[in-house]
Amino acid sequence: MTFESLGLHTSVIKALTEAGYTKPTSVQEQAIPAAIEGRDLLVSSQTGSGKTAAFMLPALHKFASEQQAAPAPAAGKTPNQEMQASRSRGERPRFKPAQPKMLVLTPTRELALQVTTATDKYGSHMKRVKAISILGGMPYPKQMQLLAKNPEILVATPGRLIDHMESGKIDFSQLQILVLDEADRMLDMGFIDDIEKIVDATPESRQTMLFSATLDGVVGNMAKRITKNPMIIQI
Ligand code: AMP
Repeated sequence: MTFESLGLHTSVIKALTEAGYTKPTSVQEQAIPAAIEGRDLLVSSQTGSGKTAAFMLPALHKFASEQQAAPAPAAGKTPNQEMQASRSRGERPRFKPAQPKMLVLTPTRELALQVTTATDKYGSHMKRVKAISILGGMPYPKQMQLLAKNPEILVATPGRLIDHMESGKIDFSQLQILVLDEADRMLDMGFIDDIEKIVDATPESRQTMLFSATLDGVVGNMAKRITKNPMIIQI
């Protein structure tokens, strides 16, 4: 099996070749074609199995294909430029909420940063795909600057994300893909209410991918509530 045979976009394949990946891991082989078709996924897999690429590669494939079909208009201001323009008109700048296409929830800052770094690597040959981390402990002004860039991909720990949602900094109406990474650990850490609140703020039409060491018990119950006809993959 090769990455080409999984149907990934050429810009993604180029980045994988540069990263020295020669063939997909088992979880990637099973998850990528189903995710490209738009299926929801419930995946039981461990760290080290290549699970980050299993959800990020099909997402980048989708965004690369969309960019190719409808290139972004040359005109139009970024939220940052709009803020600067309104400031130069003497207006009190209003923050335009970020409208991400993808959200990855992780239990810890470390995992969020790893996912963001991997995304930068896998998306290095795409025209524009920006991933940022929203983490507890990071200064708010820094996070506002990052959100003002209107990134396509947000990687976040649940608590801090809720703060930004509640203060109107993020609008999930354009969200296409939701990933819960290490869902069992997020539940162990007591994030269940935050996760439900976040999921409720996203469109019903989203694709949902849940990764967890175990799919039983509380994780299984939550998975049932937030996914539609998921493909179950046990590694
Ligand atoms: P993960 O399970 O996502 O934390 O990935 C574990 C490690 O495997 C990371 O260092 C990845 O860069 C690496 N990796 C993921 N997929 C592949 C692949 N197909 N070939 C080689 N290395 C990979």
